Amino acid sequence: MSSGTVYKNYINGKWVESKSGKTFENLNPADKTDLIGVFQKSNAEDVKAAIDAAAEAYKKWRLVPAPKRGEILYRVAARLTANKEQYARDMTREMGKILIETRGDVQEAIDMTYYMAGEGRRLFGMTTPSELPNKFNMTIRQPVGVCAFITPWNFPMAIPSWKMMPALICGNTIVIKPATDTPMSVVNLMQACDAEGVPPGVVNMVTGSGGALGDALIGDDRVKIVSFTGSTEIGRKVSEACAPKFKHVCLEMGGKNVQIVMDDANLDLAVEGALWGAFGTTGQRCTATSRLIIHKDVAQKMTAMLVDRAKALKVGNGLDESVNMGPCVNESQMNTVLGYMEIGKKDGAKLLCGGGRLTGGNYDKGYFLQPTIFGEVTTKMRIWKEEIFGPVLSIGTFSSFDEAIAMANDTAYGLSASLYTRDVNKAYAAMRDVYTGIFYVNAPTIGAETHLPFGGTKETGNGHREAATAALDVFSEWKSIYVDFSGTIQRAQIDNAD
Ligand code: NAP
Repeated sequence: MSSGTVYKNYINGKWVESKSGKTFENLNPADKTDLIGVFQKSNAEDVKAAIDAAAEAYKKWRLVPAPKRGEILYRVAARLTANKEQYARDMTREMGKILIETRGDVQEAIDMTYYMAGEGRRLFGMTTPSELPNKFNMTIRQPVGVCAFITPWNFPMAIPSWKMMPALICGNTIVIKPATDTPMSVVNLMQACDAEGVPPGVVNMVTGSGGALGDALIGDDRVKIVSFTGSTEIGRKVSEACAPKFKHVCLEMGGKNVQIVMDDANLDLAVEGALWGAFGTTGQRCTATSRLIIHKDVAQKMTAMLVDRAKALKVGNGLDESVNMGPCVNESQMNTVLGYMEIGKKDGAKLLCGGGRLTGGNYDKGYFLQPTIFGEVTTKMRIWKEEIFGPVLSIGTFSSFDEAIAMANDTAYGLSASLYTRDVNKAYAAMRDVYTGIFYVNAPTIGAETHLPFGGTKETGNGHREAATAALDVFSEWKSIYVDFSGTIQRAQIDNAD
């Protein structure tokens, strides 16, 4: 029996144990001897209790004026701000990314909460003239009901907040199931909501395995919206499970993001961008730079500069402020990435640095990999095509701008891309022609801000966007309202036809 702090599910405003009587341990991937806590291994009964609470709370929450809902969110945002450092440290311990990044993750949750709190006084609809006299037309947003959220481990507080805050401001209630690897950050989010007066049942959390809880969560008729962020493989299952009941489903899935470097680019800047894009969060970002394509005239020079910098990165425990890259999130993820390193070697890519696990001393306590770069990668190779989700960068070359655009688009995914150039014409052409949901010019493929829509094309998403006002379209439905004050029946398209 573990002696760590036991964290409970949050249902109907109370911290409760799972009906299963079972728990699981959350360990630090940088140091397996560091126990973050013991969490509830929930079952379908727990999920039902959470949905019961959310369905009941919805009856009142939908009627709370949106500015009042916003006032609660302002207080939640202030609490997240006050606890930012502690939440960041908890997050580094539970999933490994370095402190500057976990501070950024919490900041993203703060930004989103303030942003959506402000929406409480907007949630704008339209008024528009009627085609008929003495008639008034307008649109309003209406909430949808109980929302179920399934979230990944790589942005343990930011991603839950992207879903929670717009859903709440629109008047919905929620049940969230965080990733098994990162329940602590969502417990922190729930504690902030609890302390700042989010009414009981409006937000609920059940921890445990997605495989075990997914059906209970998605299958319940009272759940009207499912918002999922994770792999394309699981996203497809979620989508199929939602289809028979026409549930609204918002999917944010995998990526295979590209950085393009033209021959006129500032190479120092492009190297900085590739380094941050490929090895930030140990390459475990949906927007990570996984493919780097460089104009052949500067490829040799830039590759040498980049490899030197990658070799100098300090890998270690993210709590150490001097560390540049933390561990993989868990053993299985590490083994998947090691598998891809072997595939790259076997398929004939040229290993330029890294290529294996870091061992010895403190490295043996966790799941550390070397920052790895492959050169001479061709578009047929698996490391070029498949999402690796680890610190592995594949480099290819091109001869013309059109070839670069074609290579960039030659992927199943469409989340993020970036172009380094000093030529404004090429920049605008690429903004138009690269088919992704996010595009950067002279910046890496990572670095989204909360007031712009976030999401991707093709197998990255199903057309919805998170963040910004776009998120309100996921969590509300439009209602068009016609008020006829003429005192007569007026038939649209008929009585005004002449
Ligand atoms: P994952 O394995 O798909 O898991 C995501 C979530 O789904 C977790 O909470 C997981 O629970 C749950 N889950 C697993 N099996 C399920 C099932 N059968 N039914 C319902 N839920 C289930 O993904 P991950 O490894 O956590 O995250 C990495 C992936 O997320 C990458 O592909 C990455 O690109 C993607 N991602 C995309 C975005 C974006 O915005 N596009 C952002 C971040 C990450 P357990 O943890 O209990 O398994």
